[in-house]
Amino acid sequence: MRKLFTLANGFVFSVVLCAAAGTEIVCALGPGAASYNPASDQRPTADAMEIATNLSTAMSTLCAPKCPEIPLFRNPTAANVMLVFGSGGAKVVYAPAFFQSLYDNYGEGALIGVIAHEYGHALDEIYPQKFGNGGTPELRADAWAGCALAKNNPTPARLASALTGISKYPPPGNPPWEIRLSAFKLGYAKCAGDVSRIH
Ligand SMILES: [Zn+2]
Repeated sequence: MRKLFTLANGFVFSVVLCAAAGTEIVCALGPGAASYNPASDQRPTADAMEIATNLSTAMSTLCAPKCPEIPLFRNPTAANVMLVFGSGGAKVVYAPAFFQSLYDNYGEGALIGVIAHEYGHALDEIYPQKFGNGGTPELRADAWAGCALAKNNPTPARLASALTGISKYPPPGNPPWEIRLSAFKLGYAKCAGDVSRIH
């Protein structure tokens, strides 16, 4: 198995990052978010960046003209994967060991799924009306993830992998999976996806 996400690339941002006290963790798909240390943010691996870029491209038709610029960071202190608001704006931060495990166990689609959920929070802030009746912020993020996956036009295997990744790592509050799946399908259908492909 390839080792995609634990490879250090030797690059560390030279920006002086604010202390954790200045950050707001919007969503964490794992425990231990309080231990997140922004000073340990590093540039993502090329593989993770490629996934994020492909997802951004797929979503660009949805968010234009106000597409958010959400940088992706690798950080071993992150709680699996998180959306964080800080003084520099929103960012998605992932723990490299988590991404590697997700990839090894469920495939690349699972990575796409959890990143899409986190991006979904940011898009929901910009376009709250799109899934305004879609339930809680976590369910709306799932709806946005469904929308993004529809635009990503995944193979059936990749779509199944994305749903597995999303289901295995629930957001805060742990909404029942049936409700989350309904939200995902709502978004998938709204963005011209064929929900009969979702099992
Ligand atoms: Zn969330």
